[in-house]
Amino acid sequence: MEIVKERYVFSGGIDALSIVEKYGCPLYVYDTSIIGRQYKKLIDAFKVKQLKINYACKALTNINVLRYIKSLGAGLDTVSIQEVRLGLMAGFTPEDIIYTPNCVSLEEIKEALDLNVRINIDNLSILEQFGTAFPDKPICIRINPHILAGGNSKISTGHIDSKFGISFHQMPHVLRIVETTGIKVTGLHMHTGSDILDSEVFLQGAEVLFNIAESFPDLEDIDFGSGFKVDYKNDGIETDVEDLGERISKRFKEFCTTYGRELTLMFEPGKYLVSEAGIFLVKVNVIKQTTSTVFAGVDSGLNHLIRPMLYNAYHKIENISKTSGRTRIYTIVGYICETDTFGVNRKLNEVHEGDILAFHNAGAYCFMMSSNYNSRFRPAEVLIHEGKDYLIRNHENMDDILKNQIEHDIFEVKMVEA
Ligand SMILES: *Cc1c(COP(=O)(O)O)cnc(C)c1O
Repeated sequence: MEIVKERYVFSGGIDALSIVEKYGCPLYVYDTSIIGRQYKKLIDAFKVKQLKINYACKALTNINVLRYIKSLGAGLDTVSIQEVRLGLMAGFTPEDIIYTPNCVSLEEIKEALDLNVRINIDNLSILEQFGTAFPDKPICIRINPHILAGGNSKISTGHIDSKFGISFHQMPHVLRIVETTGIKVTGLHMHTGSDILDSEVFLQGAEVLFNIAESFPDLEDIDFGSGFKVDYKNDGIETDVEDLGERISKRFKEFCTTYGRELTLMFEPGKYLVSEAGIFLVKVNVIKQTTSTVFAGVDSGLNHLIRPMLYNAYHKIENISKTSGRTRIYTIVGYICETDTFGVNRKLNEVHEGDILAFHNAGAYCFMMSSNYNSRFRPAEVLIHEGKDYLIRNHENMDDILKNQIEHDIFEVKMVEA
C-alpha cells in the first residue's frame, strides 16, 4: 500500500478506503503482486540446477491464494490432512505436495498416503510403524539439527528439547529402522523455526544435513525448511535472502558434487511469501482518553488478529483515513472483553471515530488464527489481482456461529417476546 495523491492505494491504483466502502470491515486484503515479487526474490536468490519452493500454506490457505501460488510454479508444504485436501482442491498435484505433520496418528498419515502426497516423518515411532507397514513407499525424514533459532520460544522448533524432528544424535537408530524395514529415504528435511535473521543458522543446519546425507544413497532432495524473517517494523531488518542464496547455493553445489548426483534444493516459506501481501483494515469505534493514554478502540480484537497478544508480534499500524496533518500517540486496542492490545504508543495521523486503520504484514498467520471468540464474526477476505478486487471470503453471520450447534428440547425455557 502506498500513498498516491493523498490516498492510500493498493497495487493497480485501487483505493483502500473505497475497498472498505465496498466490502465493509473488518477486512483482510491480499495483494498478489507482493506474493509474486517475494516468490521471484527467492527464485532469483538460489542459483542451483534444481530448486523447488514449497509454500507453507498454514500461513494463509484461502483457496484463491493457493491457486495463485500454484500458478507461480510453487509446490505446497502442508501440516495437516485438511491442508493436503485443500491443496489438491486448489489444483496442486500430489507430487507437488509435501505433508510434514507433527504428532499426528498413523491413521492420518495413511490417509495422506492414499492421496499419494509426499510424506515427511518426524519421529522414530512413526518411522518404524510406517516403514513396517509400507516398506515400498519412499519417504522424507525431518531431522532436528539442534539449533536454537527463531523469533521467540513458541516459534523456535530446532533446539534440543523441541518436539519437532528426529534428533541427529539418533541417526544410528534411524539407520537401523531403514535397514530392517527396507524403506527408501528420498528426502531430508529440517525446519528450525520462524523469524530467523541470520544466514548462519541455515548454513549450520545445512552442514548437519549434508553430513547425514552420506548415509542415504537414494536422496532426491534436501529441504532446508523456512523461517525467513520479514520486515514487520519497516526498518529493513529481514533475512537477507540474496546473501543466504549465494552462500547456500555455493555449498549445495559442492555437496552435490561430493554426493555424486544433482539433488533438488528445497525451501518451504510461509511468512516470506504472504506476510507483506496482507493488510488488515478496521474501523475506529471509540477514542478514549485516560489520564495518561489515548486509546483508539477498533471493531476487531484478538479474535481476528492474535499475533500481538500471542507472540508479542509487532504490526505496523497506520490511519489511512488521513495521509497528512498532525500526529498523536495512540494505544490501539480491540473490543474483546480481555486486554487485547494491538499496539502501544503508536504515532498516527490524528484519529477520529470512524477512521480506518490498516495493520501491515497481515498476510501470514493472521486470518488463519482468527476465531469466533465473544461470538463475533470472522472477517471477510479480498484479493487484489492485476488491478481488480475480488471478494474471496464472505463476512460471517449468525448462521456461521450456530452452524454445528445442535439444539435439544430438554430444558423448559419460557420464550420472552423480543
Ligand atoms: C510453519 C512451517 C513453515 C513456515 O514457516 P514460516 O516462518 O512461515 O516461513 C515451514 N515448514 C514447516 C514444517 C512449518 O511447520
